[in-house]
Amino acid sequence: MNKHSNIMQRTSNPQLPTIAKGEGVYLIDKQNNRYLDACGGAAVSCLGHSNQRVKQAIIDQINAVPYAHTSFFTNDSQELLAEHLIAHSEGDFSQVYFVSGGSEAVETSLKLARQYFLEKGKTDKKYFIARKQSYHGNTLGALAIGGNLWRRKPFDPLLAEGHHISACYEYREQRESETNFEYGQRIANELETMILDLGEENVAAFVAETVVGATAGALTPPEGYFKRIREICDQYDVLLILDEVMCGMGRTGTLHACEQEGVQGDLQTIAKGIAAGYQALGAVLISKKIVDAIDNGTGFFQHGHTYIGHPTGCAAGYATQLEIQKQNLLNNVKRQGSNLKKALKESFDADVLVSEHIGDIRGRGLFLGVELVADKASKQPFDPALKLHKHIKKKAMENLLMVYPMGGTLDGVNGDHILIAPPFIIDEEN
Ligand code: PLP
Repeated sequence: MNKHSNIMQRTSNPQLPTIAKGEGVYLIDKQNNRYLDACGGAAVSCLGHSNQRVKQAIIDQINAVPYAHTSFFTNDSQELLAEHLIAHSEGDFSQVYFVSGGSEAVETSLKLARQYFLEKGKTDKKYFIARKQSYHGNTLGALAIGGNLWRRKPFDPLLAEGHHISACYEYREQRESETNFEYGQRIANELETMILDLGEENVAAFVAETVVGATAGALTPPEGYFKRIREICDQYDVLLILDEVMCGMGRTGTLHACEQEGVQGDLQTIAKGIAAGYQALGAVLISKKIVDAIDNGTGFFQHGHTYIGHPTGCAAGYATQLEIQKQNLLNNVKRQGSNLKKALKESFDADVLVSEHIGDIRGRGLFLGVELVADKASKQPFDPALKLHKHIKKKAMENLLMVYPMGGTLDGVNGDHILIAPPFIIDEEN
């Protein structure tokens, strides 16, 4: 680890241990250190690191044919996975578009939304509204709609102007005088105000993570919030894009986080857990009305990447989804999620010094967030210059534990938090 690495990987000289193998919920480096993966990397590795059936499905696909360009062929793996995803969603989806990851899924959904309105002759509809403290990916289109100022800042001159309403952030923003429901309605109504300000004829879509992930640590929506959002979108002919790249595919205890809200998007992005990290895969679920508009219009979606519908990626995705069903893992997510939340609270409470800096413990299923504060009473975040999240990550790794800490978003609203998202196969013994 002493020589300057030839790999640019987040930092220009990453001094990281080299991974050697994975066993269940553990990752093992070349020095034989065995790390408990309590965050699935970044909420990716939902089956742990050594699932034989997923590995075999990948081998079988590679033996048959590893890759065939989708302008020449379709393939069974993507057809099977699409059929499975549509059958197991409550939305009115009729097609799926497979890409290589979350950012590509978000880019694809933005273009689908734009093209939908072009097909319908509503050519002015071009603006996307999203939320503060959100993250939708690092490519330029996805970054432009995102509300994480720290990630946007260096690239601002390259980005389309963002339009952001408040996030669902009850710990910091719910008033004492209002119920959780009233708070949800108040912030959902910000969407209506912004649509009217921009002109409904100009707004294409509202984009939101059903449960906010990396930017603020597992922020769950208040009761009724997404129902009101859906109503507003329908009233003003604005598409609802639910970004479930991180919170979807079982992470919160249901296959799609939006099931728990009783609401469906017109477009829904998924990635991370879809193939459990065994292959790079993302997807967009596309509602029938959008597919029909393209079918009845140009018939051609003006988009595409070399690796769309990748057979090996989709084979891994299909095997992952069958495995989740076979092992009944969503029940384990619910059970272990509530155990873990309780255990976190108890262990923090047991240490007075630590407890003083635990602002909030939140989340659903195995998608939990811990917000850290310098002062509990005032909810004052730690000074960002301390880079507390970096110290936590380092300390945890020294103690053979992987968690996913992040800093604040530069708007001074929130501070450091830790995301905890272990594989769905975790049990009490781990
Ligand atoms: N959308 C959400 C909600 C995410 O959490 C992420 C990544 O963390 C992305 C999009 C981008 O996904 P990727 O890193 O696979 O491009």
